[in-house]
Amino acid sequence: MNVNQIHAPARRPDKTCSLGGLVADAARALSTVSATPRLDAELLLAHAAGVGRTTVIAFPERETSNDVAARFRALLARRLDAEPLAYITAVKDFHAISVRVTPDVLIPRPETECLVDEALAMLDAQPDRSVLDLGTGSGAIALAIKRARPSAVVTAVDASASALAVARANARSLDLDIRCLESDWFGNLDSERFDLIVCNPPYVPSGDPVLDSELRHEPRQALDGGSDGLDAIRIVLNEALAHLAPNGALLIEHGHDQQADVKALARKRGYRTLAARRDLSGLPRLVVLHVHERSP
Ligand code: GLN
Repeated sequence: MNVNQIHAPARRPDKTCSLGGLVADAARALSTVSATPRLDAELLLAHAAGVGRTTVIAFPERETSNDVAARFRALLARRLDAEPLAYITAVKDFHAISVRVTPDVLIPRPETECLVDEALAMLDAQPDRSVLDLGTGSGAIALAIKRARPSAVVTAVDASASALAVARANARSLDLDIRCLESDWFGNLDSERFDLIVCNPPYVPSGDPVLDSELRHEPRQALDGGSDGLDAIRIVLNEALAHLAPNGALLIEHGHDQQADVKALARKRGYRTLAARRDLSGLPRLVVLHVHERSP
C-alpha cells in the first residue's frame, strides 16, 4: 500500500454514475419536455458514451467515467431546453436510411415516410424514371427513393445553400448518386420535365403558435407556409405544370386539415387527384396529382 492510497478519500459509491442511474434520473427530468423521456435518455447517454443504445439497456450497473457523465449532462441540458433529439445526436432514421441533420434542415418526420412509400409504389412499374424532390432539406426523401429504386434518376433541389450542403454530404456518405441543385422551387430547372415530382413544402400557417414553441429549433423557412399555410403549395401547383412529363405525377405532403383545400386548388389548376392518403396516425397527409389530359 502506498501513501497515495492511504490518503485517497474513500470513493463514495455514486449510484447516479451507473448507466442505469443516469438514465433513470434523466428520464425523470425529461418527462416534462418529452413524450418519450426514457428513450431520449438512453439515446443521449449512448451518444455521450459512444456506444449503442442496447449497451445502455443491457448493462445498467456499468459505471461511466466522469467525462462521459459530464458530456451526458451537457446533452441533457440541451434536450431539457426542448432542442430536438435529432439535432443533439445529429442523426435521424428515415425510411430505410439514416441521415445527418443540422439546424439548417427540417428533421424528417415519420409521416413523410408515407410520401416515399407512395413514390416507390409509383416507380414499381418503371423504376428508371426521373424524380424531382422539391425543397429537399436533408435530402431524406430523395435519398430514400434512390436507395430503394437505384435506377431512378433523382434530382434534389433546395433554395437554401446550407440545407443543400447537408443533402450533398448525406448523398456522399450514403454513397447514393443524386443530383443536388440550389434552386428556389423550379427557378434553376429551366424547362426540365420530370416523371415524378415529390414535395414536402412548408405548410404550417404563420400564426400557428407551434412555430415559436415545439418547432422553434427548426428552420422557419422549411415550416412556415404563410397566412393559411398554403403559399408554397400554391407555387408548386402553379409551377409544376411546366415541369411534369406527359403522364407525370406530383405528390404533395400537406397539413392534416388542408386536404380539401389542396384538392380544390389543384382542381382549379387543371390537375386530377389520383389518390389521397393518410399518414401512420390516420390523418389526411398526401395527395397524388396528375395533369388532367383534356380531350382535343
Ligand atoms: N409535419 C411538420 C410538423 O407539423 C411540418 C412539416 C412541414 O411544414 N413540411 O411538425
